[in-house]
Amino acid sequence: MNRFTGNFTRQEPLPEAAIEAALRVMRHGRLHRYNVVDGEQSETAALEVEFAAFTGAKYCLAVASGGYALAAALRALGVGPGDRVLTNAFTLAPVPGAIASLSADPVFIETTDDLVMDLADLKAKIAISGAKILMLSHMRGHICDMDRLMAICDTAGVRVVEDCAHTMGATWDGVPSGRHGIIGCYSTQSFKHVNSGEGGLLITDDPQVMARAIMLSGSYMFYERHEAAPGPEVFETIRLEMPNCSGRMDNLRAAILRPQLAALPSRRLRWNALFQRLESGLAATRGVRIIPRPEKEGYVMSSFQFLCPDFDTFQMQDLVARCAARGVVLKWFGATEPAGFTSRYDSWHYVPAQKLPQTDRVLAGLLDMRLPLTFSDADADMIAAILREELAAVRGPGPSRTALPAFCAGPDTGD
Ligand SMILES: *Cc1c(COP(=O)(O)O)cnc(C)c1O
Repeated sequence: MNRFTGNFTRQEPLPEAAIEAALRVMRHGRLHRYNVVDGEQSETAALEVEFAAFTGAKYCLAVASGGYALAAALRALGVGPGDRVLTNAFTLAPVPGAIASLSADPVFIETTDDLVMDLADLKAKIAISGAKILMLSHMRGHICDMDRLMAICDTAGVRVVEDCAHTMGATWDGVPSGRHGIIGCYSTQSFKHVNSGEGGLLITDDPQVMARAIMLSGSYMFYERHEAAPGPEVFETIRLEMPNCSGRMDNLRAAILRPQLAALPSRRLRWNALFQRLESGLAATRGVRIIPRPEKEGYVMSSFQFLCPDFDTFQMQDLVARCAARGVVLKWFGATEPAGFTSRYDSWHYVPAQKLPQTDRVLAGLLDMRLPLTFSDADADMIAAILREELAAVRGPGPSRTALPAFCAGPDTGD
């Protein structure tokens, strides 16, 4: 049997323009964003101007990580200890982590079969919790009906922070992801759409919010060196009110991000071509549910998800093991023990315990795969072929099987 030998976590090298930009910064040595010579625009300030233009936002702040951007966003909106913040049950650990870093409490919202926030549950939990902030995570690049979501939140007076770690470059109805809520946050960590190792970006049109975020990020009193920022008059009182919680970006990372940002539209096309090859390769496969994509959604899919709604725990484990043996690395979200990038709400024990049966059911059948741009079309075809073969080979129920935890035991396919 053939085996896939590609590496699911291998990035492309940085573009030559990024390497040259990094060398320039290292040669002059001014890595700190506020360390500029007369009349110089720092790389970090330039990145902020360019990312604001890229998204159409008035203001942009570059920070140390995506998770830092999320926490700064909440703090800039006044979230404090004991406050409740609505968020997706299906997301990545830095999202509840950002909420917990303010000693606030996440209130989880259910997940639909299309992997987005359940808007009926959102409405119900806004009413029950009295929460005034939603941190909306566009997990794995799936965007919910933003028109409906914003209507619900606007009516209830809930302000929306968008976690766009997986939607940099994506759109809903032509509007860039991150521009529907009051704040959009992005990650430039290696496994996102641009790669600076670590890093984050925060955008908003609100001058007060941006001034608070800038002070928080540790601008000392150099806020006038920000260009995608409100004027000094907005900082007059804020500069003495906000604590300095250092989380700045540096010029080296900004320098390597700027050429990558310029290349994002073409990278988007390459990612989506890989994604669509896998999608069509699995479309007619028995037992597989491909996530339907709304017409208004302009996605950037750097990963691929599919559901095996009829498989039980045993079958899911069997499939993951079979694919792994053939070099295809799948992440199963139904596993009880967190591994690698944790995304199960019940493994975050610092959050008050909550029950989300619908999310449990969806995650029990959900598989996930990275799609690095080092993969070719032929690689995508081979992965799809291996998945089809192994899906067909997964064993049905039999006497040799071990007992299954009740929550995962779905109907069997009979095979
Ligand atoms: C990666 C990620 C973040 C931010 O992560 P950092 O590692 O802090 O940059 C936030 N939300 C989601 C869904 C992510 O995948």
